Amino acid sequence: HVTKLVETASSSVARSDVEDGEKPINLNHGDPTMYERFWQQMGDKTTTVIPGWQYISYFSDVTNICWFLEPEFAKAVIRLHELVGNAITEGRHIVVGTGSTQLYQAALYALSPPDASEPMNVVSAAPFYSSYPLMTDFLKSGLYKWAGDAHKFTQNKPYIELVTSPNNPDGSTRKPVVTRNEGILVHDLAYYWPQYTPITSPADHDLMLFTVSKSSGHAGARIGWALVKDEEVARKMTEFIEINTIGVSKDSQLRAAKILQVVADGCDRVASSAKEVQTFFDNSYILMEKRWKQLRAAVEKSRLFSVPNLSTARCNFSGRHFETQPAFAWLKCEGEIEDCGIFLRSHHILTRGGEHFGVSQNSEEVIRNPILIVPQVQLPASANNF
Ligand code: PMP
Repeated sequence: HVTKLVETASSSVARSDVEDGEKPINLNHGDPTMYERFWQQMGDKTTTVIPGWQYISYFSDVTNICWFLEPEFAKAVIRLHELVGNAITEGRHIVVGTGSTQLYQAALYALSPPDASEPMNVVSAAPFYSSYPLMTDFLKSGLYKWAGDAHKFTQNKPYIELVTSPNNPDGSTRKPVVTRNEGILVHDLAYYWPQYTPITSPADHDLMLFTVSKSSGHAGARIGWALVKDEEVARKMTEFIEINTIGVSKDSQLRAAKILQVVADGCDRVASSAKEVQTFFDNSYILMEKRWKQLRAAVEKSRLFSVPNLSTARCNFSGRHFETQPAFAWLKCEGEIEDCGIFLRSHHILTRGGEHFGVSQNSEEVIRNPILIVPQVQLPASANNF
């Protein structure tokens, strides 16, 4: 399992680093703790209190296809999308999941025909989010299988293409690449929020995945949601989650609802009487902007690396004209360095190598030795003691 391997690798490096007195900077995990300060400033506004007698039942709303979806959470999701303008919610079913990770698996289950003679192919254009191949093949399903880089998928067979936009790890704005009739699309829009990228139009796809992990930064709540056009697909995704975990934590949904309401209140010109406090998206935008400026300046000065230039547009939400500033940086070695990852590690910086994202060092890919680094990561003080 890659997380274990990564952690093992990190701690062995960490141990020798501790010996020579240097603390490593771990940029391998995309943990959104950079948002902690903002939420601290919000004080008790986002505190959720649940007495022991409440929310005991498995059920939330038996009239909904997704019967474990808390109505308060659904309301908060719809309101926030409307205010931000990043997705159409009208005519969509909402399916809540334990992170968008569970919804990804639910979507594969729902979209693969149950009685096909061979597993459905699952593709995504490289570089793709490193967890997709792991999640797809982990249980060796007979329904679907990882078929790699969408650019190289030439078979005339049914497929599911994952379209991640902005993309993890390189921040590119994406459209499907295979574009054949027998294809089904899943849009992973985890980063389609105005602190990362200009919101140019409300996304209007058949199956869209979102998560609080990247929108508000509450990765530990493990809450994601899918906006699903087709009723039968929503039903099957719900069935998957029912069999997998008999629903999704109500405590987490209520906490997420409260947090999303506070984010929405900040965006809502009517609800927010004041300009006194910076809104969550403004605050996060400024934070990302500052970090990207610093990173680009450092990269330029070093002459050893480059980071991609990303698309620039006007954001309908903020009115700002800006270049996508992803939660990750896709760093490419330009100089003499043989292996970017080893080089950075020797400087006590732990990263994730390009091979995890479907970019092989030996192939004729344009990107040589790319490395994912995560500029927003701040380790909590306790986690520095590896
Ligand atoms: N999709 C993408 C593109 C991601 O980067 C991540 C998290 N790194 C996820 C999905 C999973 O998020 P969650 O915490 O909601 O499971």
